[in-house]
Amino acid sequence: MSKITAAVFACFAIAMCNTDCGGGGSGGGGGSSTTSSSYEPSPEMKALLDKVEQARKGVAVDFNGDGVAEFQRTVADDGTVTVEVTDPDENLIYISTTHPNGDTELAYDSNGDGYADIEIHGTYEANREVRLEDRDGDHYPEWRTTLDFDVAAGQVHGTVEYDENGSGEYAVVETFTEPMVQSVGEPPIPSPLDPCLNDVRPASGYPMLGPGGAQISTSFDPLNSDGNCTADQAAKLANALDCAFNRAATCLYDVNRRLSENVMKFLVKGEAFDISCGIPAGCSDIAFTYPCAPNRKCIAPDTRQRINFNPDFIASDGDIELCDDVLHEVLHLAGERAGPNHDDGVDAVYSCARYCAGCSHSGKGAPENSSVDCDRCADNVDRKKACGYKEELKDGDCDSSTPPGVCHSGLACISGPCLACESIVTKSCDGSDLGESKFGCCLACPVDCDQAIDFYCARQPAPYLANTCSNPPPFCR
Ligand SMILES: [Zn+2]
Repeated sequence: MSKITAAVFACFAIAMCNTDCGGGGSGGGGGSSTTSSSYEPSPEMKALLDKVEQARKGVAVDFNGDGVAEFQRTVADDGTVTVEVTDPDENLIYISTTHPNGDTELAYDSNGDGYADIEIHGTYEANREVRLEDRDGDHYPEWRTTLDFDVAAGQVHGTVEYDENGSGEYAVVETFTEPMVQSVGEPPIPSPLDPCLNDVRPASGYPMLGPGGAQISTSFDPLNSDGNCTADQAAKLANALDCAFNRAATCLYDVNRRLSENVMKFLVKGEAFDISCGIPAGCSDIAFTYPCAPNRKCIAPDTRQRINFNPDFIASDGDIELCDDVLHEVLHLAGERAGPNHDDGVDAVYSCARYCAGCSHSGKGAPENSSVDCDRCADNVDRKKACGYKEELKDGDCDSSTPPGVCHSGLACISGPCLACESIVTKSCDGSDLGESKFGCCLACPVDCDQAIDFYCARQPAPYLANTCSNPPPFCR
């Protein structure tokens, strides 16, 4: 994997404003909008929007609130837009580039070792996104996923490939076709057309959110939606958006920095999106996100990204659940497509949203223990261990980590070697191996040297095995 290095070009502060900045007009034929004062941006949201404005001007900003300005967006003379993010140790960990021809590149270094673990290349003309991943830490991207967007069909054709030995010859592991639409709750049915995707979209104006909502709308533009949320639904969704964006800036940064910065980049870009409340009655789906392809062509009839909600869930969800659902969809809006196990509710998108919305245990695939969600959200070993971990014994070799001379037999054998050992391996709270192994205990000594054994495995269960999985993870304390 290539070394992560700063783009070098002349940069200057520029106030970026795309065509949707400035709040946009009111919605269509519905005429005057109703005003609800039940949404007022939180102090955190106001501060976040101030930072967004600063970032648009090219000022380095501290979105996550750790006292270090980590996020910088620059626009080059030729229009190339670059976002660079550093970690608290000032290592460059995230670089996103959007070229004037619409092509995009993203490189992300999850552990600050100077090498990208994920690279995503989007090509505008080909309508294609290629994702390279180094999952084993050898700086070579052995996994390659290619997504070809077919906007007319509303589908994505994917190819997953693996190059075991770094030869550059990738072998196809699987191919798939899935709807472009992303969901929380029930997955969309690709064919025959899911009736729940035939959302109600009357051409009336979206209810205004009041003066505070107008402020939020400069970034999100819910005023221009074709959806049919009521003023009360809009206010609830605005509060949930407030929660979702703030948690993405703070909680999510501590667990999965790539997803956090995707959302900050999305906010700073100021790309308008719509929220509608049009999933038909009787559907069990919570929400669908209608994303646009890398060439910004969207699923017809949309001209930009949209989240469509099920009004039943807006009514029944508590604040945490709605923040969870909105954060989930915001992660999709910001470019994260579903992983292969997305519809089981256990991938990073589901897990991060539940954890950062407020340690939710509700919804599809939700574990009882937030440490598990935190683990599944976290994107490196240190951050997974911070969520909670457990040590287990496993058959192991008596290797260089084995203490010498643990076997004894009085003066006849003062310190003999252990002949069979068990290792201590570190596992995340969902049971996945974190790849750490050390000496655990001695199983067997030489026959003439086994009267006393240090670190003897028979003394199990070993009280020295750590288990922090019953402690609440950081954001839940
Ligand atoms: Zn989803």
